[in-house]
Amino acid sequence: MSEQSGEFDFIRSLQNRVKPSRHLRLGIGDDAAILSESPPQTLVTTDMLMEGVHFLIPPATPQQVGHKALAVNLSDIAAMGGTPATAFVSVALPRARPAAFREEVFTGLQSLADQFQVALAGGDTNSWDGPFVISVTVLGIPTFPPVLRSGAKPGDWIMVTGELGGSLLGKHLTFVPRVREVLLLQESVKLHALQDISDGLSADLFHILEQSGVGARLFADRIPVSLAAIKSASEKRSPLGHALGDGEDFELLFTLSPKDGERLLNNPPFETRLSHIGEITSNPEVLLRQANGREIPLPRLGWVHSL
Ligand code: ADP
Ligand code: MG
Repeated sequence: MSEQSGEFDFIRSLQNRVKPSRHLRLGIGDDAAILSESPPQTLVTTDMLMEGVHFLIPPATPQQVGHKALAVNLSDIAAMGGTPATAFVSVALPRARPAAFREEVFTGLQSLADQFQVALAGGDTNSWDGPFVISVTVLGIPTFPPVLRSGAKPGDWIMVTGELGGSLLGKHLTFVPRVREVLLLQESVKLHALQDISDGLSADLFHILEQSGVGARLFADRIPVSLAAIKSASEKRSPLGHALGDGEDFELLFTLSPKDGERLLNNPPFETRLSHIGEITSNPEVLLRQANGREIPLPRLGWVHSL
């Protein structure tokens, strides 16, 4: 860290707000953290958010940026079927901002960490004359065998949690990562392929299809279009176009056997909406079946002019 006055106090304040955790033998305060568990396999993910590129303050608040910086990483751990355990947070703080700014960032981050019992285990703090940058790394435990993007099989159902589209109206800053849902899903069914929706349903589905060597048919009238997607709609793009193409929903997209899919719909393990939106095919193309039964090819970005 730099010699900037106040940063020692800041690190002490971070230390004080972190609760003891079973994941940690030693956390903030020494040269490195000591993790108390060393499972044979550990999930590791990292994401950096930069002011002016990924967010603006305002309209985002410092708490929301702290929340999001951790939430995107928790979503990636969930998307592997794991449980997040520890977080490492590095910040480049603008000198011109008051000390309250960093406190607010960490308040947003810590409250999400507490919600999922994730231990803030270390990081780095620097100040500069540039914009605010925050990089978070999360370590997680694969409680079950990790669920990869490559496991989709022809005949699988394609399902999604929550509702899609229009996330830029607010959800992208406030979403709750589907950490709880992924564990409950795995307790009731066997997931074949899994990922979170960060680039948009259509683009992220292509990742699963490419890595699994399969194709898909989506049912247009079953895609859960959010209220925000309806509000975002214009002449250029319909609500469905937003649900297919918009990014940053951080919902779970997964495939499983039809039998398991039916079991989930008949007996959902949580209140978060679950939708059966399509099926995996052996033919490598991606088709969208419209309500009138007509099928059209779905482009990767989900921008279909006729939608
Ligand atoms: P070093 O010079 O050894 O890297 P630092 O002064 O950077 O030590 O950090 C001191 C301690 O505070 C370390 O345990 C580090 O992990 C922790 N720390 C520093 N900044 C942060 C931060 N932004 N979030 C969490 N922990 C931090
Ligand atoms: Mg350091």
